[in-house]
Amino acid sequence: MIPYSRQNISKGDIDAVVEVLKSDLITQGEVVPKFEKSISDYCKARYAIATNSATSALHIACLALGVGPGDLVWTSPVTFVASANCAIYCGAEVDFVDIDHLTFNLDVGALVAKLERARLTGRLPKVLIAVHLAGQSCDMESIHSLALEYGFRVIEDASHAIGAIYMGGKVGNCRFSDITVFSFHPVKIITSGEGGMALTNESEYARRMFRLRSHGITRNDHEMTRDADGPWYYEQIELGFNYRMTEFQAALGNSQFERIDEFIADRHAIANRYSTLLADAPVRLPWQHADCTSAFHLYIVRLKLDLMSNSHREVFESMRNAGIGVNLHYIPLYRHPYYVSRGFAFEDFPEAEAFYKQALSIPIYPGLGIEQQIEIVQQLLLSCGKLT
Ligand SMILES: *Cc1c(COP(=O)(O)O)cnc(C)c1O
Repeated sequence: MIPYSRQNISKGDIDAVVEVLKSDLITQGEVVPKFEKSISDYCKARYAIATNSATSALHIACLALGVGPGDLVWTSPVTFVASANCAIYCGAEVDFVDIDHLTFNLDVGALVAKLERARLTGRLPKVLIAVHLAGQSCDMESIHSLALEYGFRVIEDASHAIGAIYMGGKVGNCRFSDITVFSFHPVKIITSGEGGMALTNESEYARRMFRLRSHGITRNDHEMTRDADGPWYYEQIELGFNYRMTEFQAALGNSQFERIDEFIADRHAIANRYSTLLADAPVRLPWQHADCTSAFHLYIVRLKLDLMSNSHREVFESMRNAGIGVNLHYIPLYRHPYYVSRGFAFEDFPEAEAFYKQALSIPIYPGLGIEQQIEIVQQLLLSCGKLT
């Protein structure tokens, strides 16, 4: 099976992990801070907090921004469940903004309309989580000005988008947001096995997230409520979690990070080849905004079903049967039983519904060969059935 995505592990990656495993500290040593510094330097953000997953990073990002019971968090429905669950963890409620039909990111027009209605009913969101689907940034400049106008905070769920560029700056610089989150799951751009990171330019958010990552404990004198009882002293000053990344995960992350530009270039080469190979295929290719350079975590096409005899499902099954690990990113979140029970109506999200009926992710990852790409495209053409 050719998967839709997979990790690319080198001898150097393995050596880096083994070296840490042979050292004294396999958690809470110097490798995690080094990984944090590499990523914050790369993105030009002031602070970076490594976590054991992007899901954890999203959770503590929401908490750092004060999300709690009674609050609303808005996000895109076309994303992984973690983009919304993080708000529920905090006791908040989630609502969705329909997507743009070209980028499949949340649509700023729909956002403006929803904000206007929410202002009238007094139900404005506390936080908006902008998801950079497939690795292409959302329209962050517009989102940022709406955030100022309506008084909400912004988290970028950039799980797909480390290495992407928006308006000349790296995604993660937080120029138009409060916090940006990356994922280092094996299918993502670089991996640490499991892992995530939150970036911010605000010292207060950073301090909060460092603390929440590790049980709400502080060892900083100025954060403590009393003078130290002795040299052993620390204080738990709020309820936190164990969301720490291990040293050997960070070693893998650091080693992978050395190849990030190579990985992104490979993904671009693959995407460019697909555009050529698929030029005459009955699919809509991923559209790219001029302000964005995508990280191409995913390559999502939309089937032009009216031009083919087979259905979406038949194309999907036929590809899978041929050993090509196509996928669908994503089932709109309001369709999951957990969210259905919260009372969402499918017809409120016409663009997400249209997307769900046509989308198909075809394989893209560093190491995917030209021959494999040709096979994938030939199989896709066969899987569409008779063309009309
Ligand atoms: C992968 C992913 C996450 C969660 O990442 P983990 O590191 O697996 O917790 C969150 N949001 C999006 C959009 C993702 O693709």
